[in-house]
Amino acid sequence: MIWRYSWRDSVPCAITLSQLALNFWLAASWETRPLVYNLLFAPLCLFLFWYNGLVASHSFVHTPWFKSELLNRLYLVLNSINIGLPQIHYAHEHLLHHRYANDRPGQNGLTQDPTSTFAGGKNGQHESMLSYCFLGPFQLDLFGSFRDICRRGGSLQLGAEICACLIGFGTLLLLSRQYVLLLLVPVLYLGWVLEHVENYYEHFGGEPGDRYANSTSYYGQLYNALFCNEGHHQEHHLRPNVHWTQRPQVRLELSERLEQANRVILNFPPVLAWIEHRRIAEQFGRPSARISAHISAQTTAKRLAEPEVVISSGAVAVKM
Ligand SMILES: [Zn+2]
Repeated sequence: MIWRYSWRDSVPCAITLSQLALNFWLAASWETRPLVYNLLFAPLCLFLFWYNGLVASHSFVHTPWFKSELLNRLYLVLNSINIGLPQIHYAHEHLLHHRYANDRPGQNGLTQDPTSTFAGGKNGQHESMLSYCFLGPFQLDLFGSFRDICRRGGSLQLGAEICACLIGFGTLLLLSRQYVLLLLVPVLYLGWVLEHVENYYEHFGGEPGDRYANSTSYYGQLYNALFCNEGHHQEHHLRPNVHWTQRPQVRLELSERLEQANRVILNFPPVLAWIEHRRIAEQFGRPSARISAHISAQTTAKRLAEPEVVISSGAVAVKM
């Protein structure tokens, strides 16, 4: 067996490798079909991109699929072409997200979680959904992230992933400039917008100072069956190193504390939770700036006991 945790990881692995193959096949055969036929592939490409960030890249960051370190590194290089960025950058940002748990700005006005929904908000409130999701993809701190990755010993892996992105993008451009302009670039942008929507509603209404209520959860059976239990986001924040197949078990084990928490349980999957934005805002309207500052100070103190992000030999992990 090549799988470190479960053969079920073969599903997201196969889907993302198919995504890579589809992109190159589309570019290579673009000129052989009328434009309108080619554009019919856009929804499928967008779905695959969203699935990749939501399920595959995310679960791989926490629980790399293969026993072989070489296979893990190779997958990271290949999948970087799919997401249009070095996956080690995504991993670095995501693990900071876990460490600082969607924090509010500190005294310097900045959040330590680069993806925090409070980063662009005012008076300790969440940033507006529209600006977070549509402008967020342009607010990457790539150089800061690359500097941190190199400092932590990930320069070789980062270099390989940057080369893969450049070679992959260059090859697609050579195969068909029209494919890149009319399909790939819009899918990359809209795909990242969807990832931002997902993250926004995985935390909208949450309270960063409360480990049992800093995220949201959605327990719909179909969504969790199709998307590898991604609805158990609060449980995932509590036990980030637990394999996705075990997240419902975490819910059971921690049920008493979870039931006591004043937390958001969604009625729709996070990507559709804008439908109930008003309900969440009214029910979980969080405190004024003065109280927020107090909670932010408490959160900072608590961080000392929270997980630490570690990059060793190019791999990334959350150290509990
Ligand atoms: Zn995570």
